[in-house]
Amino acid sequence: MTRDGVFEAPGRINLIGEHTDYNDGFVLPIALPHTVRVTAARRDDGVLRVASRQAHGVAELRVADLAPGVVTGWAAYVAGVVWVLREEGHPVGGFGLLVDGNVPLGAGLSSSAALESATALAVTELSGVDLDRRELARIARRAENEFVGMPCGIMDQSASLLARERHALLLDTRTSEIEHIPFDPAASGLALLVVDTKAPHRLVDGEYAARQRDCRRAAEQLDVPALRDVDQADLDGVVRDLPERLARRVRHVVTENQRVLDAADLLRARRTRELGPLLTASHASLRDDYEVTVPELDVAVDALVAAGALGARMTGGGFGGCVISLVEESAVDACTEAVRAAFADHRFTAPDCWTATAAPGARRADRVPTATA
Ligand code: ADP
Ligand code: MG
Repeated sequence: MTRDGVFEAPGRINLIGEHTDYNDGFVLPIALPHTVRVTAARRDDGVLRVASRQAHGVAELRVADLAPGVVTGWAAYVAGVVWVLREEGHPVGGFGLLVDGNVPLGAGLSSSAALESATALAVTELSGVDLDRRELARIARRAENEFVGMPCGIMDQSASLLARERHALLLDTRTSEIEHIPFDPAASGLALLVVDTKAPHRLVDGEYAARQRDCRRAAEQLDVPALRDVDQADLDGVVRDLPERLARRVRHVVTENQRVLDAADLLRARRTRELGPLLTASHASLRDDYEVTVPELDVAVDALVAAGALGARMTGGGFGGCVISLVEESAVDACTEAVRAAFADHRFTAPDCWTATAAPGARRADRVPTATA
């Protein structure tokens, strides 16, 4: 067991399956080449000391004093993981951790899960704690839920810890079953274009919690354990007696779940192009039924589709963040230009546009050949 090491974990893009992960449903993310890197060294004095090249301030705490509410700000994502591990009885003591990464913060690409995942991998491996990746994902999520106070589902941490290069990760959030499905758009002459809209996240935490409440209430009224269990075949009949807003929330979750399964079937059959319409339908559902888009997201999707993209949708929780789009490789420039022009017309901040590949999940970075990222 070594005392120090370098560990990195990727951000993610969810291809499809938005707001399904807290409804026991399916999600289909890929890991990004962008990572958060944690250089870690065990300390014998019981002190957790964390610094980040992307944030101000150094946090220094005794691990024995860690408790929800004690740490605020970015260091809570790190300290939370150490707290959960100790709380669950694992022998994790003091650490010095230096964070450095290139996952954009707060852009919906899950820099938070990347930070938690890299931390979880670092402190468990250097403490001789042997947990599988699913357990690490559960622990990282628990840190974000209970220590940071963000009631996220299990998708982001699972993607960061379990994804494989050139594959999408189909995750059943009820059973934790996973399947790695080949996803390599370039092999079919396609590109996955990402538009970071730079839209400031508005109302995210409160609205996210409100959607979760809507879903819980709808499941109670429909007398099902989770919205995953609503039968899509008779959807209109099922939601008939629900208040109008709840009916729309249910319709989004149920149809989105089916779109994930349809997308997985298409990828298994190597019919990647046909994913396009599913992406655009997902966006319409998130805009109209789930009401988590903002004008920047809608304008980007409309401009991409009008410029010939096969399909486009917001990705992540919404209220800002990124749009993804499946486009012919030959159309990347035209689609990018179309989005830039539309943003200029609307006087939005200029977006960042780039193409994404499906990268590997979290790994130790000082032991493997440096071919990644
Ligand atoms: P997202 O996960 O979509 O990027 P979140 O709001 O969930 O957005 O998480 C972003 C937060 O995670 C940042 O505000 C910061 O507190 C923390 N974070 C992520 N990456 C880093 C980093 N490299 N250094 C310090 N803090 C980070
Ligand atoms: Mg996050």
